[in-house]
Amino acid sequence: MTKKIILTITSLFVLFTPEKSINTILKASPLQTETVINKIDTATTHSIFNISNLGPYVFPVKGKVISPYGKRGHRFHPGTDIKLQLGDTVRAMFKGIVVRSGRYYGYGLLVILKHPDDIETYYAHLSKCIANVGDTVNPGDVIGLGGRTGRATTTHLHFEIRYHAKAYNAQKLFDFEQQKLIAENYSEETPVKLADSKSDTLAAPINTEKNVHEEKIFHIIKKGDTLFSLAKKYGTTVNNICKLNHLSENTILKIGRKLKIQ
Ligand SMILES: [Zn+2]
Repeated sequence: MTKKIILTITSLFVLFTPEKSINTILKASPLQTETVINKIDTATTHSIFNISNLGPYVFPVKGKVISPYGKRGHRFHPGTDIKLQLGDTVRAMFKGIVVRSGRYYGYGLLVILKHPDDIETYYAHLSKCIANVGDTVNPGDVIGLGGRTGRATTTHLHFEIRYHAKAYNAQKLFDFEQQKLIAENYSEETPVKLADSKSDTLAAPINTEKNVHEEKIFHIIKKGDTLFSLAKKYGTTVNNICKLNHLSENTILKIGRKLKIQ
């Protein structure tokens, strides 16, 4: 049955794709054929992906889900927020390759892992990135420490799962509080089109700089704030804050003053 479907779809593909020779199609590995089917499926009905190819998993942190994936006012929240304490270890959920490790606008300090089948996981608002770009990490490896860098009102992990660069609801696959698998497959009518959505944590695909530069972050100075503590909190540098606000490092911060952070 499955074979028949593959053959039918492959034939259609050949019919409508004259530039692809039959040989190319026949040489395709089962995995590639599977991808072709997924793509057709995505285009015509709804998006489906399967996490069973990702192998074993370990939950990145243990904590309460303080904000789920989904609509948040008129914004869209593309990930799951899990409460943690400053400095808690954040672990790689699946085996993967580190493709980003560093500050990224509203995400603050962010680690992105790339997994098979164009699936990625995002770990944001860290206080420290430990994994380096190019590293291969195994499930459970510590990739960073928890924090509240970027656009975050409390220390937490913003976790995202993306498939073909679109963010999906990880809570349909995993129960983060009970630390249990819910389903291996994901299907959803309308995955979030990241380029169109806005969220508290930036929803723009990582290579779409346009949305990102519109994002501005301000901080109202409170008692006890120092340039150093603010730089640490937002994952930036004292120098950057000084430049943005035309300050010198020795300027006394007045309580209530609005500082531009980015
Ligand atoms: Zn979040």
